[in-house]
Amino acid sequence: MKHECSFCRIVEGKIPSFKIAENERALAFLDIAPTAKGTALVIPKFHANDIFGVTEKDIEAIGLLIKQVSEKMRKNLNANGVNILNASGKAAQQSVYHLHFHLIPRFENDGLNAWPFKKTLKLSQKEFEKIAQKLKE
Ligand SMILES: [Zn+2]
Repeated sequence: MKHECSFCRIVEGKIPSFKIAENERALAFLDIAPTAKGTALVIPKFHANDIFGVTEKDIEAIGLLIKQVSEKMRKNLNANGVNILNASGKAAQQSVYHLHFHLIPRFENDGLNAWPFKKTLKLSQKEFEKIAQKLKE
């Protein structure tokens, strides 16, 4: 399905994009439907649907670009912060099935709410222990 994937086509240069950084395995470019001035996407150059499909090498390369682009947002766009967001899987509201991380530069009083979770769960000590054990296995 590679040819049908718009992010693969961006990597191949078949769809134009505003590239801002890249390394051997990952690419950063401006989101053309940005929530803030400078919102960028960081993707693997080799197709992976989501976090479950990406190789460890690719995620390392993505991590490095996320760090580099975040630093530039702070230094060159004068951002006061950055949100780094990913949705992996339908249940997580993923809409484009080529792994991507949104980097949203944030400014004091910019009016955005990229962290909408107001409600938190109340879990017992036992439930925490059970979940931690499952994730440790
Ligand atoms: Zn793709």
